[in-house]
Amino acid sequence: MSLRKIQSRFPRRKDYIREMLYSVSTMLIFAAVPLLLIYNPEIRPHTKYYTDIRQYGLPWFIAAFFIMLIMHDTYFYWTHRLMHHKRIFPYVHLVHHQSVNPSPWAAYSFNPLEALVEAGIVPVILFPIPITKYHLSLFFLFMIVYNVYGHLGWELYPKGFSKHWLGKWINTSVNHNQHHQYFKGNYGLYFLFWDRIMGTIRPDYDQQFEEVTSQKKELTIVRQL
Ligand SMILES: [Zn+2]
Ligand SMILES: [Zn+2]
Repeated sequence: MSLRKIQSRFPRRKDYIREMLYSVSTMLIFAAVPLLLIYNPEIRPHTKYYTDIRQYGLPWFIAAFFIMLIMHDTYFYWTHRLMHHKRIFPYVHLVHHQSVNPSPWAAYSFNPLEALVEAGIVPVILFPIPITKYHLSLFFLFMIVYNVYGHLGWELYPKGFSKHWLGKWINTSVNHNQHHQYFKGNYGLYFLFWDRIMGTIRPDYDQQFEEVTSQKKELTIVRQL
């Protein structure tokens, strides 16, 4: 298991504590935003939220999940790049980047302002496209699972994945770990379309992916507690 670890160190205890406290605040904001939009009788009629699956049929019900992921990936990439602007970064995104060596707890370690920006994907989806509570629930579940994987500290995809015809478009834990190590490049969430189109993928991504997955790297696991 340790052979697929991306960085040889473990995060420090104070990192875990900071990450957990900010994660709790993020989860409260993430829960409040959709609830406020759906249960507010003034706002809900302006959204496309619906409750009867038959209203738009099964093909739409399934397609909407994929459309949501593409919309979210696009929203995430561009807001993420904006939050890296030097005038915005210290006030909004710095907390997330205090985790230079991320653990799963770093996934939702956001300044409350950043948590609000991230929760902004809910109105971005809810106003233009018809979705149900099932879409929202599965969407949040998938987002959490994928984001935890992105901050895991270990790579789970197989060797060669970063160069595979399909894998090269999919975000990996090595990719996002590099974003935390170096601060620049690799801004995507689920996919790498935008990073590849905009030329923001790190040139050493494939090399580090190969090193981590081919277990060539000599790792000394040092607990820093
Ligand atoms: Zn960032
Ligand atoms: Zn991150």
